[in-house]
Amino acid sequence: MINVLFAGHPTRWPEYQIPLRDAFAKAGLSVDLRTDHAADQVDYIVYAPNSPLQDFTPYTRTKAVLNLWAGVEAIVGNPTLTQPLARMVDFGLRQGMVEWVTGHVLRHHLDIDFDLEHQDGSWTRHIPKLARDRKVTVLGMGELGSACATALATLGFDVTGYSRSPKSHPGIRCLHGADGLDQALTGAEIVVLLLPKTPATENTLNARTLSLLAPGAAIINPGRGPLIDDDALLAALKTGQVSRATLDVFRIEPLPKDHPYWAHPRVTVTPHIASETRPETASEVIAENVRRSEAGQPLLYLVDRALGY
Ligand code: NDP
Repeated sequence: MINVLFAGHPTRWPEYQIPLRDAFAKAGLSVDLRTDHAADQVDYIVYAPNSPLQDFTPYTRTKAVLNLWAGVEAIVGNPTLTQPLARMVDFGLRQGMVEWVTGHVLRHHLDIDFDLEHQDGSWTRHIPKLARDRKVTVLGMGELGSACATALATLGFDVTGYSRSPKSHPGIRCLHGADGLDQALTGAEIVVLLLPKTPATENTLNARTLSLLAPGAAIINPGRGPLIDDDALLAALKTGQVSRATLDVFRIEPLPKDHPYWAHPRVTVTPHIASETRPETASEVIAENVRRSEAGQPLLYLVDRALGY
């Protein structure tokens, strides 16, 4: 029997217990899945941010911690975590993000807000550019960024992708490294942030890098709040250097009620819903990793502790 501890926030347990049990059974694994195993009896931990579990020291026989979310910044620096850490990569997260990002890119590309704001009887025609004439830059070309960039390129957008290491994707101009960031941002009309939160990515969009964009650019951030210097973004919105921003993630969540983003007429706040982990598809990934580990195979989607993602 394999002992698996569900250590997500307790409110998540009802939605995960059946999909996880089904996925373990489907993978042919004999698993005792609970929220209350004795720490020294736990073989695997299924983990989600906001979990009460913060001290991994007593989990002496645990072979891996399997994160339910793609982002690992809440756990990767935990000094008590000596076990391997895997993050979530799955169909549901990827597809959800592609849909959300594509929707908001199209919204800004077509300037749908203009139409919504001009339902006043005036026959004001504004003709959008074609997608091929719209420069979209995706910062972060990992599992989610590359899927979004590919979907946007398929729609015909002029897409540039930026990552830490070199990449190659058909129909996408791929840039990397420090020089690559400036090149990727110069003249960009829509910027999508899908970088992880690490010390190296904090304030990627700041006063200097925002000034590289095409005047009136739109910002879409489903990555993490600290990727953007908020004061610099508010200043760029004021001058018009940035025309609109769709922000799903923030330095403090929930976003405090008095934060200027809430009342800003050209900022759309969404409550960290760009892409949610879906229990059915995510459970299959968790079960596959337990199966691999039990079979002596390497875990999928291991986090690089030094890089922080
Ligand atoms: P990945 O780890 O697959 O991709 C991260 C990408 O960022 C990679 O291309 C990586 O480069 C690049 N990167 C990392 N550090 C740097 C750096 N210093 N400079 C340049 N590029 C860098 O992550 P995912 O695509 O799965 O997820 C991305 C992020 O999306 C998550 O970390 C999370 O914060 C966020 N997210 C938000 C959700 C929401 O609902 N709002 C839902 C899910 C995720 P390289 O390829 O070279 O390693």
